[in-house]
Amino acid sequence: MPASTWLITGASRGIGLEYARQIIEKGDVVFATARTPEKAVELQKLKESAQGSLHIVQLDVCIPESISSAVKLVEDILQGGGIDYLISNAGILNSHDEKPSMIDTLEMLDIFKTNVVGSVLVYQGFLPLIERSNRPGGPVLVNISSGSGSITRAKNADSTSYSVSKAALNMLTVKQAFEKPNIIVIAMAPGWVKTEMGGASAVFDVDFSVRGQLKSIVAATRADSGKYKVHNGSEYTW
Ligand code: NDP
Repeated sequence: MPASTWLITGASRGIGLEYARQIIEKGDVVFATARTPEKAVELQKLKESAQGSLHIVQLDVCIPESISSAVKLVEDILQGGGIDYLISNAGILNSHDEKPSMIDTLEMLDIFKTNVVGSVLVYQGFLPLIERSNRPGGPVLVNISSGSGSITRAKNADSTSYSVSKAALNMLTVKQAFEKPNIIVIAMAPGWVKTEMGGASAVFDVDFSVRGQLKSIVAATRADSGKYKVHNGSEYTW
């Protein structure tokens, strides 16, 4: 089988970096994007061992010009080929303790800009390349959401701006699935993962979470489109 082509946002560290690592192990081609590639030391090291299958591309999800330059670069490298899997992973969290009455609205706008608008801009920019994919069953777009985006499972008043942004990202996923029936669009909750964002007391190692996510993403069919999933492949409640 020919290698598949992946694009990941926020691949400098954490979940995005682990995606790049495991996809390289599978023998596929990865466009690992980072907003400051020169500071992405682990990603640079991974590139050295990847034997040409990993391309590091500068991309800040909040800056449209950065996205259009990235699209052009990826298009040149693909020479008519498409992107089979796009992992819209870049995200930020301001504070776990943030209750609605405490929200700093400028901070909230920043969270929204990265976690929601960033995904929209990346989707709009890379859509022509996603639509060029030859993946049997259709290309896959994964919005990395969070359990915090589930309205039915909300248990406290914490992480409000972040939770609101991930609930919005979930709705974006559903709208994208309606707009593009030929693309499999999934909102993925990675679980509580040990990264800079998740912290050391998180439940899952990044290796475990990403391995589960990848298994269900690679197997995804049209029936999965517009669904909210967890890292082990099971469906989550919105
Ligand atoms: P990290 O904080 O470890 O990594 C976040 C990544 O996003 C970094 O690569 C960072 O780049 C990148 N990023 C942030 N802003 C931008 C931007 N404007 N443009 C491009 N890249 C950007 O977090 P995780 O790896 O844990 O999180 C990845 C995703 O998973 C996020 O969407 C998060 O919300 C989600 N998630 C994580 C959970 C967890 O427990 N860890 C739980 C649920 C969801 P840089 O190095 O330049 O800052």
